[in-house]
Amino acid sequence: MVKIGLEIHVQLNTRTKLFCSCKNEASKKPNVNTCPICLGMPGSKPLINEEAIKKAIKIGLMLNLNFSKKMFFSRKSYFYPDLSKNYQITQYELPVGTQGYFLINVKGRIKKIRIRRIHIEEDPAQIIHVGGSITNAEYVLLDYNRSGVPLCEIVTEPDFESSEEVIIFMKKLLSYLQHIKVFDIRKCKWRCDVNVSIPKGNRSEIKNVGSFKGIKSAINYEIIRQESLINKGFEVKRETRHFNASTNTTELLRTKEEEIDYGYIFEPDLTSFELSSYIKDSEDNMPELPEEIIKRLIKEYKLSKNNAEILVQKDPLFVEFFEKCSKMYENKKKLSNWIVGDLFKCLNFQEKSLFESKIKPNDFVDFLNLMDSKKITERLGKELIKEYVEKGIPPRQLMNRKNLNLLSKKEILNVIEKVIKENPKSVKDYQEGKKIVIDFLIGEVMKKTRATADPKITRELLEKKLKNK
Ligand code: ZN
Ligand code: MN
Repeated sequence: MVKIGLEIHVQLNTRTKLFCSCKNEASKKPNVNTCPICLGMPGSKPLINEEAIKKAIKIGLMLNLNFSKKMFFSRKSYFYPDLSKNYQITQYELPVGTQGYFLINVKGRIKKIRIRRIHIEEDPAQIIHVGGSITNAEYVLLDYNRSGVPLCEIVTEPDFESSEEVIIFMKKLLSYLQHIKVFDIRKCKWRCDVNVSIPKGNRSEIKNVGSFKGIKSAINYEIIRQESLINKGFEVKRETRHFNASTNTTELLRTKEEEIDYGYIFEPDLTSFELSSYIKDSEDNMPELPEEIIKRLIKEYKLSKNNAEILVQKDPLFVEFFEKCSKMYENKKKLSNWIVGDLFKCLNFQEKSLFESKIKPNDFVDFLNLMDSKKITERLGKELIKEYVEKGIPPRQLMNRKNLNLLSKKEILNVIEKVIKENPKSVKDYQEGKKIVIDFLIGEVMKKTRATADPKITRELLEKKLKNK
């Protein structure tokens, strides 16, 4: 059996960095969000950002953790170019909390993933590898904008048995983190260290995988690599590896013999922290968890369980979007059907988030009204929403630009004449009793009219026409 465990680093969406008042945000210019503290100047002293503690505790509440009464920070010493102090301020002996769990749904079966611990730490600076990857760059550049950014590290027990389970977990985790407003997928980074082992082997740790695709490839490659070593009678050594996204393989970084002793010591520039008042504050200000939102959507808007679940599972923006639209639109069932149906499908297909798609509640409701008032057919609606997602142009504008107003009966009849002429075989089949052929003929009319013919009227006219032939 394969055993997989994760060490996940998520960037908390605090206003400022963890130990100084520099902005916690990306910048195109390197080294602008910096000060003596996050540059690690000798003599500078860290000051804790309480917002980071509160947000980490919210994560702890979400993951059902046992909180420590007290926590403190430690120095993790190692030498690396991204770490100017030569130590990272992190937590070791007493983290925020331990022994929690998070439930995932694996093909209908609920699986409990145990959470070993979560702690707060600072991110080191960013190393930019120039002229190659981590293993063969010509030289590196350093950007201290990232130095001191608050991270919450979430460590799981090795409870996963496949890359699929890991992906299900990560998607749910990132969605929940956004729902409780401690993480923003558009601004914050996340990355995972993935530990993989198979029976009779030692575990290997793959560092810094930062995408779902990467996680999947790294785990699957690692399982095959370890299995083939064992099959050939070799030993699987304990080692640290790097995931190479361009080859979809993992590469050796260091073996256990080279494993570093971090020499943790208590951080003398910070005190220890009593957590009880922070826990109280986070409990009082804990946003609705997804399970609660689902219940509310079902109760308040009479949504089906399925639609409510899909709305919540995705980007939390969908719930907001739905609620904004529903203020302007009566038929909540139809609204939710279009969101979880065609809107989702089109966003997925184009691999866009709702945020990137420029879809606005006003325009979306206007689009539904166009269909309700029979100005466009549902079928044309399905076409327009594709373009809406792709180009960000609202359906009403698309309709006017393309002159997609509904055809008159006479215009439909003209097209029907043409379709009948072009498909004598189908017409014959119909008249010989194969009534189902009519759907094909209607489809032909729709194609020719770019779905601007009303399907109901088309069917009536076509039936009449075929009878009189
Ligand atoms: Zn700073
Ligand atoms: Mn860490």
